[in-house]
Amino acid sequence: MRHITITDMRVRIINVPVQATHSHGSGDVSAICSVVLELTADSGVTGWGEASPWPVFTGTAEASAAALNTHLRPHIIGANALRREQIMAMADKVVVRCSEAKAALEMALLDVAGKTLDLSVGQLIGGRRRDSVPVSFTVANPVFEEDMEIIAHLYGDGVRIFKLKTGFHDHAFDLMRLEKIRETYGDGVDLRIDYNQGLKAVDAIRTLRDMEPFRLGFIEQPTPRDNLEAMAAISAAIDTPLMADESVFNPREALVATQMRLADIYSLKVMKSGGIARAQEIAAIAGAAGVGVYGGCMFETGLAHLAGAHLVSTLPEIDLGCEFYMPSFYAKDDILAEPFPIRNGSVHIPDEPGLGIEIDRDKLEKYTVETLPAAG
Ligand SMILES: [Mg+2]
Repeated sequence: MRHITITDMRVRIINVPVQATHSHGSGDVSAICSVVLELTADSGVTGWGEASPWPVFTGTAEASAAALNTHLRPHIIGANALRREQIMAMADKVVVRCSEAKAALEMALLDVAGKTLDLSVGQLIGGRRRDSVPVSFTVANPVFEEDMEIIAHLYGDGVRIFKLKTGFHDHAFDLMRLEKIRETYGDGVDLRIDYNQGLKAVDAIRTLRDMEPFRLGFIEQPTPRDNLEAMAAISAAIDTPLMADESVFNPREALVATQMRLADIYSLKVMKSGGIARAQEIAAIAGAAGVGVYGGCMFETGLAHLAGAHLVSTLPEIDLGCEFYMPSFYAKDDILAEPFPIRNGSVHIPDEPGLGIEIDRDKLEKYTVETLPAAG
């Protein structure tokens, strides 16, 4: 039986600057703060993974780094990288939650396995059904004029999907921005909105009815994640498809959401589900119920985006596209050796072994703020 032993691992906390602050119903973001996991196998192969936490949404970089370096390290060193599900079951037993750390671990194991077996991650996880997926850009700059310039630029590059972050200022500001974009581009763009839980359940339905004339592709997570009843009530009351993001992290939550009919679409994110395999399980639950799925992301570098791109390449239905735009249109730089592959408004999924694009070690070093274990 083949055995690829993990012999070393390194955990780095990185900070990549971005072009502008992005505002959301649950807070502002002004940098990409991630945790990069490097696994080394006895064959000499290196695998890379990224945990991209957001404290108001999934967790903190410090928790991801500690989960990997302190709690999981003793179980990872010496493990057979090809026994991925066994390792992931161990991770669930050793550390509760920390889904981003687990996503990073699975990503790095897949990268090692793919490079070892000469298969892309997409081939390893079921085989790709498509080679590219349309990309959505997120409009979240509190200075809307700056976003209008970026939209014009991206429209020229072939991007046709735009998602506005709403609910971080006031309702009039949200209506003004939707009006302006529809006025400028008519039905030539697919417009969506995302509240990141920013609306109060008490008058959410009335607020959202104002949004329906803008012919939105979907409305994402208007109300707080735990108020499942509010989401179900909104979904039943409005015509626009409702997407659950913060309310659905894992297969168990997807099952409850499906039983309650609380949304028409689930946003899949490897950072929420703790990796690609669990995200595929959510997609299976959604598919069986006629619920749509979407390729979502957190504040990630191109590394985590590659995992998301391989995930969506395997899904039966991903009609709504994906939002893997960060290193191309938001971050000032990336840690990949080649640009994350967006062309003509679509993400083109790499077919090289593993995740498909190597890390630029100089850039990784440049953006590293802490390495674990510390040298010396
Ligand atoms: Mg969201």
